[in-house]
Amino acid sequence: MQMIGLIGGMSWESSAEYYRIINRGVRDARGPTASARCLLWSFDFSELVRLQHDGGWDALSAMMVDAAQRLEAGGADLLLICTNTMHLVAPAIEAATSIPLLHIIDPTAVRIKAAGLRKVGLLGTAFTMEQPFYKGRLAQHHGLDVITPSDKDRKTVHRIIYEELVAGKITEPSREAYRAIIQRLVDQGAEAIILGCTEIMLLVRPQDSVVPLFDTTVLHAEAAVKLALAE
Ligand code: GLU
Repeated sequence: MQMIGLIGGMSWESSAEYYRIINRGVRDARGPTASARCLLWSFDFSELVRLQHDGGWDALSAMMVDAAQRLEAGGADLLLICTNTMHLVAPAIEAATSIPLLHIIDPTAVRIKAAGLRKVGLLGTAFTMEQPFYKGRLAQHHGLDVITPSDKDRKTVHRIIYEELVAGKITEPSREAYRAIIQRLVDQGAEAIILGCTEIMLLVRPQDSVVPLFDTTVLHAEAAVKLALAE
């Protein structure tokens, strides 16, 4: 079994989900006492949040590269960035390490295409919904047609992530707000919704949407198990 290197703590609420999903996946495949070989680098997320919102992307990139190199030096055979947003610096990590980086978009897009769907609504942080690194890869590498919520709705989605979900706060009014935003994306033609932030799965459930939800946390973690167990 390969050693999975997890760059996490962004937030730890979702890293805990990664840990659980990956270990369950290995147990299901290899038997009741089997568990994943993995290394977790876990940041103090508050430092990253401040830099993200101050535009400190060079410093963030250096921190992420440092974490990736430590995991590689510790024996990781593959890397996962346990957040969608921080894939903004994925190219820097790929350039600075020699082990494969499993990009969060790829297993998600593969699953969407396998379901025969093309037009997808994207929910995530403002960075993920607005900057080209995410929508661009979905469109150019995978041929998907991506729509995002209105300006006002994007602000709501972003605020709930940073003020509530990363702090483990799950509330019915916020779930209702997401439900309404998902419905507006469906009204604009979305055939599926990408939960493009690794904490959204803590809030939104399949019954909150009339179209299928593609949860990046689950799909990314499951793809890591598959890779780690491939001979
Ligand atoms: N976990 C979130 C994501 O998947 C947001 C936290 C972050 O800024 O990294 O984008």
